[in-house]
Amino acid sequence: MDTLPNILPEVRKNYGVLPNYIDGEFKPSISDKRLKIYNPALDEVIGEVPIATDDEVSEAIDSAYEAFHKWREVPITKRIQYLFRIKEILENHFEEISRVVTQNHGKTIHEARGDMRRTIENVEAAISAAYTLAKGEYMHNIAEGIDEYMVREPLGVFAIVTPFNFPTMIPFWFIPYAIVTGNTVVVKPSEITPAPFNFLMELIHREAGLPKGVINVIHGDGSVVEAMLRNKKIVGVASVGSSQTAERIYRLAGEYGKRSLNGGGAKNFVVVMPDADLERYMPTIISSFFGNAGQRCLAGSNLVLVGDIYDKALRLFIESALKLKLGYGLDESVDMGPLVTSKARERVIKYIERGVEEGAKLILDGRGVRVPEYPRGYFLGPTVFVDVVPEMIIAKEEIFGPVANVIKAASLDEAIEMINKSEYGNAASIFTRSTENARKFVSSVDAGNIGVNIGIPAPVAFFPFAGRKRSFYGVLHPQIDTIDFFTDKKVVIVRP
Ligand code: NAD
Repeated sequence: MDTLPNILPEVRKNYGVLPNYIDGEFKPSISDKRLKIYNPALDEVIGEVPIATDDEVSEAIDSAYEAFHKWREVPITKRIQYLFRIKEILENHFEEISRVVTQNHGKTIHEARGDMRRTIENVEAAISAAYTLAKGEYMHNIAEGIDEYMVREPLGVFAIVTPFNFPTMIPFWFIPYAIVTGNTVVVKPSEITPAPFNFLMELIHREAGLPKGVINVIHGDGSVVEAMLRNKKIVGVASVGSSQTAERIYRLAGEYGKRSLNGGGAKNFVVVMPDADLERYMPTIISSFFGNAGQRCLAGSNLVLVGDIYDKALRLFIESALKLKLGYGLDESVDMGPLVTSKARERVIKYIERGVEEGAKLILDGRGVRVPEYPRGYFLGPTVFVDVVPEMIIAKEEIFGPVANVIKAASLDEAIEMINKSEYGNAASIFTRSTENARKFVSSVDAGNIGVNIGIPAPVAFFPFAGRKRSFYGVLHPQIDTIDFFTDKKVVIVRP
């Protein structure tokens, strides 16, 4: 590594076997089941993650349960002070944490910094929500001499289960809101990219002074999540992952009588109308499909070109995709990193093969792309299919890689119909100069996050991160909505 030019320094070469974080202490797991953690740009092992034992899961939940009874009594104005400290820690260590994200996930340092900014924004939104939304309501004289009020109460211990692609931001879609409202949490980070959250927890442990048991971290895979769900002291779960995982957790939570909120997978459409300002918006369209190497739940996957813009839009799209520089994300000049694991790369390649079998025409094939400085990395260049129809598997299933399917449509109505037939409903974007087109799109498309001349319609923290159909299982959404998810309402009627 030392011989490679122009790359930012890694914070650590190796993270060892990650410990669980239970009752305010980092505790090595006694489990002999472990998975390796990789740097995907280099194909190097940078640590190991244990699959926690059932006893360790119970110990973490017991600690959170014990802590809950004291934490809920801490006045909210004091709980907020811990969040201010966490914000300061994240700001002070912004660059280091971003570099750990790049090292373990593979995304570029610019993308990692974007995740970190949104991570911090969620702390800020939780602070502001605590001052406003977490307040109750009061009505004087609802009947003669009688007053009524409503208070929000915390519920207890929540499980938080997160995916590999945003290792700090997605845990923070939940943690700040859960703890500021008086709950305690047991977090199960992704077993593929656990290093950034572990690193961040080391900083919080050292510098935040949070009472023990308020945040616990337990490592492992789906089996650990099931053990958490079976535990009677867990009152609810907030999870994000594939639709299969989201649906599974939703069902299990229902079976065990817990509230749950579960973000699932996606298959997002980007529609380009004949009147789109292509020169201006091509960078955001390209970033939608190939940013984060296509591993975003808001990533564009089906590019629908409407009417006579087809030739020009396709030419510009390919020209822009060809300009993307692949490499190790710690090099500031890199535009696109590798896929997260070699298995993920193989899965995407299988979809490319499937597309060819289905009769789609591969006009840009990322499989042949080589990155000479990093020959072992899990790179896959931008890949573009044309002659795709919505019935093809590649147009229907989530690929989660840098693959764009170009689909022709004769009209906006036809494009909207395609989108609404999809099983997924995470995001959809339109590029147009027409307010009429935009309005029709916004009101007719059955998806949770809509972009108008925006390629990645990611809601800021003080809006819910929406999602529909197989992209979301539950009622309340991540980010600000979780103030409702993490509290219950109690109504009191008083005759003095
Ligand atoms: P994944 O479903 O494999 O894993 C997500 C989390 O669930 C991990 O912590 C994992 O250990 C756990 N898990 C896996 N199988 C489980 C099971 N059977 N029971 C209980 N828990 C289980 O997802 P991933 O590959 O880490 O992440 C990528 C997926 O996440 C993509 O489908 C992407 O679209 C989705 N995602 C969705 C959103 C959203 O907001 N809707 C955001 C980011 C990512």
